[in-house]
Amino acid sequence: MFKTEQDCIDYLVTLRWPKGFECPQCGSIRFWEKSKGRFECSDCHKETTVTSNTIFHKTTKPLLVWFHAIWWMVAQKNGVSAKGLQKVLGLGSYQTAWTWLHKFRRLMVLNGRSKLNGIIEVDEVLIGGKKSGKRGRGAEGKSLIAVAVEVKGRKTGRVRLEKIPDASGKSLKNFIEKNIEPSSTIITDGWSSYSDLERMGYIHKVQRSVITEGDKDILPNVHRIASLLKRWLLGTHQSYLNKNKLEYYLDEYVFRYNRRTSNSRGLLFMRLIEQAVITEPVTYDKVINENHGL
Ligand SMILES: [Zn+2]
Repeated sequence: MFKTEQDCIDYLVTLRWPKGFECPQCGSIRFWEKSKGRFECSDCHKETTVTSNTIFHKTTKPLLVWFHAIWWMVAQKNGVSAKGLQKVLGLGSYQTAWTWLHKFRRLMVLNGRSKLNGIIEVDEVLIGGKKSGKRGRGAEGKSLIAVAVEVKGRKTGRVRLEKIPDASGKSLKNFIEKNIEPSSTIITDGWSSYSDLERMGYIHKVQRSVITEGDKDILPNVHRIASLLKRWLLGTHQSYLNKNKLEYYLDEYVFRYNRRTSNSRGLLFMRLIEQAVITEPVTYDKVINENHGL
């Protein structure tokens, strides 16, 4: 679909202005196209390019290179490292590849995505650091992640992952309300922070570990996701320990996991490009300094 720069521009114009150009400053639909993807409003004379205020804002790289990068990111089932991307695109700078990947991760929480529903296992896990553990002290250098997984018979459905400040009732309730449809069935262990779920409108099933069952995993789906996540972080993104970026890696993981059975990589690519034109630009400094969601 995208053989020339013009193909990319035309595609972005269609996505951004499906009913035709509209001036972002005054709303006028009268314009002239000064050059490819560059419009001037006939009323207020503001000049707008198709990439302005999108993640491609003020880029000096051709859109073809960007599209190629996004394609590469979705085409690799397990994700890509900045080094890998730099090599494939022949980018001069590692920093550019690294920044781009972080920009792409910001596209991966799709607008209006629906909450999990049905039967859902929820737990918190610690990741990072050397020892695994949970809730206890001595968790320094680790991050606490809330995990929710749809259980579909013997299979898992969609997942949600979020870094949470602690395992308090408040943190977990926020996570659950944000990610799970009311009246769903939530399975947790007996941790007291989950004791309010019925009052919040969920059906709550508590799995208690039974001593005679030895170390049988009472929340197998959540723990399977957690170990896949850890393996993925270690395998592809050793730099995830750069703490304030972990959330973005979680977003990428969720995006990939929830689409793992999708045969159409092309569709995923289009979803990301669609997000790209409605996502505010982020600068390198912002990528470096800003915490997720703050
Ligand atoms: Zn105007």
